[in-house]
Amino acid sequence: MPAPELLKEGGRQMTICNACRYCEGYCAVFPAMEQRRIFTKADLAYLANLCFDCRDCYYACQYAPPHEFGVNIPKLMAELRTETYREFTWPAMLSGLFKRSGLGACLITGAALIVLLFLVLLFMGRDVLLTTHIAAGAFYRVVPYAAMTVPPLIIALYGLTVFLIGAVRFWRETGGGLSTLLDGGALWRATRDAFGLTYMKGGGAGCDYPGASFSQSRRWLHHLVFYGFLLDLASTSVAAFYHHFLAWQAPYPLLSWPVVLGTVGGVGLLIGAGGLLYLKWKSDRDPSAARMLSMDVAFLVLLFLTSLTGLLLLALRETAVMGALLIVHLAMVAGLFITLPYGKFAHVVYRYAALVRYAIEQRRMESGAR
Ligand code: SF4
Ligand code: SF4
Repeated sequence: MPAPELLKEGGRQMTICNACRYCEGYCAVFPAMEQRRIFTKADLAYLANLCFDCRDCYYACQYAPPHEFGVNIPKLMAELRTETYREFTWPAMLSGLFKRSGLGACLITGAALIVLLFLVLLFMGRDVLLTTHIAAGAFYRVVPYAAMTVPPLIIALYGLTVFLIGAVRFWRETGGGLSTLLDGGALWRATRDAFGLTYMKGGGAGCDYPGASFSQSRRWLHHLVFYGFLLDLASTSVAAFYHHFLAWQAPYPLLSWPVVLGTVGGVGLLIGAGGLLYLKWKSDRDPSAARMLSMDVAFLVLLFLTSLTGLLLLALRETAVMGALLIVHLAMVAGLFITLPYGKFAHVVYRYAALVRYAIEQRRMESGAR
C-alpha cells in the first residue's frame, strides 16, 4: 500500500494542477484529473497508470522546483505506479522484487544459466557443447524439445495468471465492476491509444525526453520494442505450428516465416531497447523516481541481451559455438520471462486497464456534454 505521505503528496499536487490546468492538452491524465475534486488512493492509482512519463508537464510547469509548490508530476506518477505494481501483484510475498529489479534480474538470469548448463552437462554430455550440429533438430541435440518448451510454457502461464489477478484487482480498486470491462467501444479506443502510443505524443510534438526539448525518438524506440516483441512472439508461435502440425523441426531456413519474423523482431528489439537505454542514461533525473528507473533499466537490459543472443545464435547456428550460445540465449529468455510479472512489463497491464477506464469516462463526458 502506498505510504500515506505519498498519497497526501499526490492529492496536494493534483489539487494544484486542478486549479491550474495549463497542461490539459498534453495527455489523458489532466482531463481525467479534471473530473475529480478529491483524489483518493484509487484515483491516484488510476491517474498514475495513465501517465506515459513524457515529462512535457514538468518542463512546462511554472510551479516545478525550485518553486515552493514543488510540482513534479512525472516523478510523483512514477512513484505511485511502482506502488500500484507492488500492491496489486500476486503473491504478495514476491512484491519485493519490484524494489530490487536489477538485483532480481541478475540473480534469476545467472541461476537459470547455471541450472541449464548443469543439466545439459549432466544429461547430454560435454561433447554436445563443442560439436557442430546442422541437420533438422540440431538445437534439440543440445537441449531436448520438451525441456525447451514445457518450462517456458509453465512460466508463461504463471505470468499470465499474475497479470490477470493484478488487472482484476486494479479494476476493482479503481471503482469498476468486472461487467463494465465488456465495453467494445472503450476496449477499441484503449487498444488504439495503446498501439499508437497516443499519449507519448504529448501535445503533438512528442516527449521532453531525455531533456527539455520535444522529440519523437522515445515514442519510435518504444514502438520498435513493442512491435519487435510481438514479432518475436509470432515467430515462436509459427515455429511451434511447424513443429507440431507439419513435423518440421528447427533450425528453419533463412527465408522461412519463423526466421524472418524473429530476425525483424529481434533487430527491432535490439535497436529499440538499446536506444531507450541510451535515452535513459542521458535523461534528466529530477523528474524520475529511482525505483522506476532501475526497473526500466533491468527490463531493457534483459530485452537487449535476449535479442542480441538470439541474433548471434541465428548467425552462428552452423558453427561449434551454437550449443553454448543456445544455453546463454535460453538463460536470457528464462530471466526475462520469470521476472516479467515483477518488473517493468507490468506497466502494459495496468496502463491498458487505465486506458480502458479513461475511454469509458471520456464517452460519459462526451455524452454528458451533448
Ligand atoms: S504541471 Fe504545473 S503547469 Fe501543469 S497543470 Fe500542473 S501546476 Fe499547472
Ligand atoms: S509526464 Fe506526460 S503523460 Fe505524464 S502527466 Fe505529465 S504530460 Fe501527462
